Amino acid sequence: MNKPTILTGDRTTGPLHIGHYAGSLANRLRFQDSHEQFLLLADTQALTDNAHDPAKVQRNVVEVALDYLAVGIDPDRCTICVQSHLPALAELTMLYLNFVTVARLERNPTIKDEIRARGFGRDIPAGFLCYPAAQAADITAFKATIVPVGADQAPLIEQTNEIVRRINATAGHDVLPEAQAIIPKAGRLPGIDGKAKMSKSGGNAIPLSASPDEIRSAVRAMFTDPNHLRVEDPGRVEGNVVFTYLDAFDPDQDELAELKAQYKRGGLGDGKIKARLETILQNLIAPIRARRAAFSKDRAYVLKVIKDGTERARQRTEETKRDVVNGLGLFQL
Ligand code: ATP
Ligand code: MG
Repeated sequence: MNKPTILTGDRTTGPLHIGHYAGSLANRLRFQDSHEQFLLLADTQALTDNAHDPAKVQRNVVEVALDYLAVGIDPDRCTICVQSHLPALAELTMLYLNFVTVARLERNPTIKDEIRARGFGRDIPAGFLCYPAAQAADITAFKATIVPVGADQAPLIEQTNEIVRRINATAGHDVLPEAQAIIPKAGRLPGIDGKAKMSKSGGNAIPLSASPDEIRSAVRAMFTDPNHLRVEDPGRVEGNVVFTYLDAFDPDQDELAELKAQYKRGGLGDGKIKARLETILQNLIAPIRARRAAFSKDRAYVLKVIKDGTERARQRTEETKRDVVNGLGLFQL
């Protein structure tokens, strides 16, 4: 039986962080045997809001690939590929843009939020406004039926499926499958500054490549409950960044529940919970950092993984492009 296909990707805007680990990398590791997986190094999408700095986008292709290998993604079971080297993705994007209106792109809640967050005003790069069509191309080119994403990305999957339905209706049969979003229950990991989202470009992340000192100072600087001044004071757990991180990473959730109760009653100091979190993060990141250091010494191997993966992905995406061109009945020589 064919395994279901998953497409995930990361913009090549910086090294991955523990938010990526909790939100998507841990799931990808779990699915390595049960699913066929393509991991897209999304450099073209990164350019849609980084056209002023293509060097950053280029440099981070290898950095993100290193993060994949460091966390344990196995290139024999998963295909790691580069978006800009898959011409079928660009060609499908051009076709799909005819199956979506500008008004619909502007109405997409994810796009609206991201335009606001980036402060584009009226000066929205056309590539940025149109990236939902490009994302539809990414997903459908691999005929992925499962797309694990953060909750804020769900409208993009909806828009992908609208495009799929229009194309299938025009073709008169199902050329492309619809995709289903899998949204992690944990939600998004906040930044160390307490902001709603840890992000590569937000300067509020703990990278998976962080040094022991960086981890220590990030945990020390974290917000807890501003009213929890003395150890004996009752403290708040909700909205307390340290507890949010413990929820995501503490392997002993029973003991954590007891600590939370004690913190709420009073009698548990911030120093203790921060020390617990620091140990957990040091233990999580140390082996990742060590593997990353080993892989970064062998750049030729990393480039080979990317090259072989991109070649495999090229075959798959070219096939789909042919299916779409045939399905729509476009001219062929
Ligand atoms: P950028 O700041 O450049 O947009 P980013 O940190 O938002 O970078 P992306 O490459 O845009 O990272 O996101 C890739 C995937 O990682 C998303 O689909 C999302 O599911 C997941 N992700 C990113 N940040 C977090 C987070 N803080 N918590 C949980 N998941 C996250
Ligand atoms: Mg992002």
